[in-house]
Amino acid sequence: MNATNQYDIVIIGGGMVGATLACALRHSGLQCALVEFAGNDTNTTESQFDLRVSAITRASQRIFESLHVWQSMVAQRVSPFREMHVWENTGRAELHLDSAELGEPLLGHIIENRVITAALMAGLQGVDNIAVLHGQRCQRLQRHDENWHVQLSDGRVLQTRLLVGADGSRSWLREQLQIRVRGWDYDHTALVTYVKTALPHQATAWQRFLPTGPLAFLPLTDGYSSIVWSTRDALARTLRDMDSAQFAQELQQASESRLGAIESIGPRAVYPLRFLHTEHYIADGVALVGDAAHTMHPLAGQGVNLGLTDAAALAEVLLDATQRRQSISAQPVLRRYERWRRADNLPMLVAVDNFQRMFATEQPVLAWLRSAGMGMLNKLPPVKRFIIDYAMGKRLDLPKLARGEAL
Ligand SMILES: Cc1cc2nc3c(=O)[nH]c(=O)nc-3n(C[C@H](O)[C@H](O)[C@H](O)COP(=O)(O)OP(=O)(O)OC[C@H]3O[C@@H](n4cnc5c(N)ncnc54)[C@H](O)[C@@H]3O)c2cc1C
Repeated sequence: MNATNQYDIVIIGGGMVGATLACALRHSGLQCALVEFAGNDTNTTESQFDLRVSAITRASQRIFESLHVWQSMVAQRVSPFREMHVWENTGRAELHLDSAELGEPLLGHIIENRVITAALMAGLQGVDNIAVLHGQRCQRLQRHDENWHVQLSDGRVLQTRLLVGADGSRSWLREQLQIRVRGWDYDHTALVTYVKTALPHQATAWQRFLPTGPLAFLPLTDGYSSIVWSTRDALARTLRDMDSAQFAQELQQASESRLGAIESIGPRAVYPLRFLHTEHYIADGVALVGDAAHTMHPLAGQGVNLGLTDAAALAEVLLDATQRRQSISAQPVLRRYERWRRADNLPMLVAVDNFQRMFATEQPVLAWLRSAGMGMLNKLPPVKRFIIDYAMGKRLDLPKLARGEAL
């Protein structure tokens, strides 16, 4: 905390996206504060897995490598996956993606969210220009001339030229500024846990589309798999509350025992799912990144990957502005960020939303078309290549950090 409480940038939210942005601004010469409501609990040494994991694309891996935090994640625990098996309820069609077939060493990594944040927070320790303020909630906002004044829960007031909202899907900053969103609840809730299965997961992500929603087994270390079971709200709560033996039976049946018997089950938690896209990613002296700007169904494992790319792009735009001696809060600077990221995020948000709808339908003709489409896709290597490139984050307009370059 500096003596005057005056910063160039205040980032609200030290989740994966906010902490990545802070890391990208290390040594930028810009004085930054990262404010996070949660305490600084970075204990990842216990054997239990985090219930929340993310499928991290190669592009996001390159962001972490460029920021020199990747090795710290690897030293804790990361799980590469090389194949993906997607099949649907009727069992008629199956999509198989194999990194070897596509000439890639792997498709991505499954990483516990707390491993990612711990590595990023470790990367921020002792950095001169970044103050990390844990256990503080931003709770009051005022505009004075060119400055934002943000009051924290302990009463301190931070002043800044640029406020960044990295405060998640229910963003406090977005609400304060009444930035308009297009969004809806999916009437779906994700039940998450981790399990040990009798058969090895073969470094493969398994996903079955049930009429009630997708069920994924994502490979972790030591033969464990992380479970993300998106289903109707009431069913998710029932699954959470039933006893372990009954849950194991439900899970085994829903996955057609692809990984054999369920031998042990971790704690269970549920997360309601929603779609959200803000009309604007910026306002006067404000930028939104990550879930604060866009939130999507987890079925394609893209949410945080888009958010990390937002963070990399915003850092690049801001550093570019300082090199050109432009104000970092000037509208043309912030507009460049908005144009760049909206154009990249929108097609993915629309594609994932349509995918979700297509698999949610039980209408017989559409279900037949879906099944036929998936079967055909599986036999078309160039289309498979396109899909996997897109899902792995290979796009034309990636920020420098996602291309493996320093800022
Ligand atoms: C079940 C599930 C599975 C998913 N799987 C994947 C996946 O495999 N791959 C993928 O790419 N994405 C996945 N996602 C999406 C991913 O989890 C989100 O995109 C990601 O967590 C967003 O990160 P964020 O940093 O933007 O927001 P958050 O993770 O929500 O972080 C926001 C932070 O801001 C803090 N905060 C909020 N308000 C304040 C305040 N007023 N003051 C101070 N601090 C504040 C919060 O404490 C929090 O730490 C999944 C989502 C779900 C629900």
